[in-house]
Amino acid sequence: MALKILSGLDVSKHVYSLLKKRISLLKSKKIVPGLAAILVGNNPASRIYVRSKTKRFKDLGLHSTTINVEESISEKKLIKIILELNNDTNFNGILVQLPLPNHIDLNNIISSINPKKDVDGFHPENAGLLSIGKPRYIPCTPKGIIKLLEYYDISLKNKHVVVVGRSNLVGRPISILTSSQGKMLNGTTTICHSGTKNLSSFTKTADILISAIGITEFFSSKDIKKDSILIDVGINKIESKNPKGYKIVGDFKWDSISQVASMATPVPGGVGPMTIAMLVENTVFSAENF
Ligand code: NDP
Repeated sequence: MALKILSGLDVSKHVYSLLKKRISLLKSKKIVPGLAAILVGNNPASRIYVRSKTKRFKDLGLHSTTINVEESISEKKLIKIILELNNDTNFNGILVQLPLPNHIDLNNIISSINPKKDVDGFHPENAGLLSIGKPRYIPCTPKGIIKLLEYYDISLKNKHVVVVGRSNLVGRPISILTSSQGKMLNGTTTICHSGTKNLSSFTKTADILISAIGITEFFSSKDIKKDSILIDVGINKIESKNPKGYKIVGDFKWDSISQVASMATPVPGGVGPMTIAMLVENTVFSAENF
């Protein structure tokens, strides 16, 4: 059976078409959803991510701004900027692009964002609400994965979902979601990490395997179950002979897994576009509700 591609590009277009109606309704009430993105330093990947997020807002006629600050900014000064944005009614959403420099405590920064403007869903209050099954904002990547599965009518009921990675951004929240009660959810979920012994003995039992480790083409056909569904979160840059000199690949070795899996998300064009679509959706939700 040929591998079916789960296209995040296609699904994100569908999400935007639905969002346009909600945005028009808000605009008829003179509300334009707005996002403030804070970019600390000059990390090239972070710059690209922030640019593609804010560009999407502009394309949809939404308000967005990027606040660029020096790599050397103190934690206190960064928190001051966030507190000002918390009180700025032009912005319904605030995001701080990660990673941050080592001298800044990530938890202090995230905790200073007004939880009602925390459209990335990383604030402890929002993480807590998700874990008790009463989510306000779901982190964008996990939320995007669930939307993608729903779009392709993939139910997790009676399925074994294996998540590799346990970060607060991706691995942990996606495992909470896949194991939650819900019509398309209710999956039996195993979470693996760098301390997991004999990792492939777990991944080989996955009906749905979600990899969020960020290691180039780490998994191949020998690690996966026949006809499994693969969700590749990894974004890995490797050298290439193309004009850019590099290309982006995922955690799965595509040529190898495509012989065994039944469906998979490509990299690029899979989870990435869904992450941005969910950021827009969370910001629209903020404008509608707070
Ligand atoms: P982190 O580095 O925070 O987490 C990586 C996780 O993978 C950790 O839990 C780590 O385990 C685990 N891990 C690392 N090596 C192994 C291994 N050999 N075997 C098993 N587990 C391992 O990364 P993020 O969660 O932030 O991101 C993961 C990837 O997803 C990155 O490539 C990132 O760029 C990408 N990403 C993509 C997005 C998108 O929109 N497509 C959005 C966000 C991230 P331990 O906890 O033990 O260290």
